[in-house]
Amino acid sequence: MAHCIIMSSEYLGRWILTYDGAIKGSIRLEEGRVVEVCYGESVGGKDKSIVLPSFVNAHVHVGDSIAYPAPKGTVEETVAPPDGYKHKVLRSSSKGKKIAAMRASLKLMRSTGTCAFVDFREEGVDGVKALREALTTASPKATVLGRPAKNEFTHAEVRSLLASCDGIGLSAISDWASDDLDLLSRSARRAGKLFAVHVSEARREDIGAVLDLRPGFVVHMTKATQEDLAACARSRVPVVVCSRSNEFFGLAPDIPRMLGLGVEVALGTDNCMIARPDMLDEIKAAYRLAKAKGGISPLDAVKLATFCGRKVLNVKGKITTEITERDDLVVVRVRGDDPLSELVTSAVPGDIRAMVKGGRIRRT
Ligand SMILES: [Zn+2]
Repeated sequence: MAHCIIMSSEYLGRWILTYDGAIKGSIRLEEGRVVEVCYGESVGGKDKSIVLPSFVNAHVHVGDSIAYPAPKGTVEETVAPPDGYKHKVLRSSSKGKKIAAMRASLKLMRSTGTCAFVDFREEGVDGVKALREALTTASPKATVLGRPAKNEFTHAEVRSLLASCDGIGLSAISDWASDDLDLLSRSARRAGKLFAVHVSEARREDIGAVLDLRPGFVVHMTKATQEDLAACARSRVPVVVCSRSNEFFGLAPDIPRMLGLGVEVALGTDNCMIARPDMLDEIKAAYRLAKAKGGISPLDAVKLATFCGRKVLNVKGKITTEITERDDLVVVRVRGDDPLSELVTSAVPGDIRAMVKGGRIRRT
């Protein structure tokens, strides 16, 4: 940990997030680049902000941005294939309109501090291609998980799907024949790609059958039992929690229990037709909803969206828990002296002072 002594540079930050908490520190900038991470009392003067690893949105459906805002309804009526509301809107909307809606969501992600996301893309190979078309060089890093256009396995379709994306992301095991599930998961693994699935969202599903498919992670687990969660922990399968999406459907994730059992938990914003892909909002919701289940600390809530998201994604191949000059960072303005409490209660996108991508700064 370096203590900076060069006084002519510009500094950002009064605190830096570490795996163990927020500590005093700042980043030193020269010609638009981060050249040093400095720990200790800030030498930069008045700047009052916290420097964090940029957020990882570990589960989102950018494609259904076109269907915002979602009407009231059950999980089944709203998002289940093939005839839930979102699938009807996806079928009846033009490709151009869908891409424009996706672009708006990608822009929002970037401006609210997200550096990487994992998307579950509907509509088969065409759906994956449309998302690729919507991405720009400024977009957060995308991990795109596709699925067959209909709930049927064919070798030809899955081959071309896996050639165009990073793996398979399914709605639920109950939507598929078990032989097909097996084929999908094997095909993804054989291609060296991810397999992931929503599990036990509105009703409990057989976690044994899910874990047999060797998923890279599962999404939701709101109706999971203690034993189901313990099985995920034992199998080292992370759970991505989507608090605002759960809240919309009257469901409640039990993050304290998950963490208590040793489950690796990350956060996702889920359907863009239900919640905007803004991770600050997701952190606040995770903290708020956890209160009814015994609560989590502000540090734990912020870690779910930063360090833990990186673990789920393995974004860098090697996970470090110390910020470096080449990291993707977000700098958030703080008003008081407890930055983590502000992040879980009152921080809004307007508080984001700057983003750093690969060491290069972009002010907002
Ligand atoms: Zn989802």
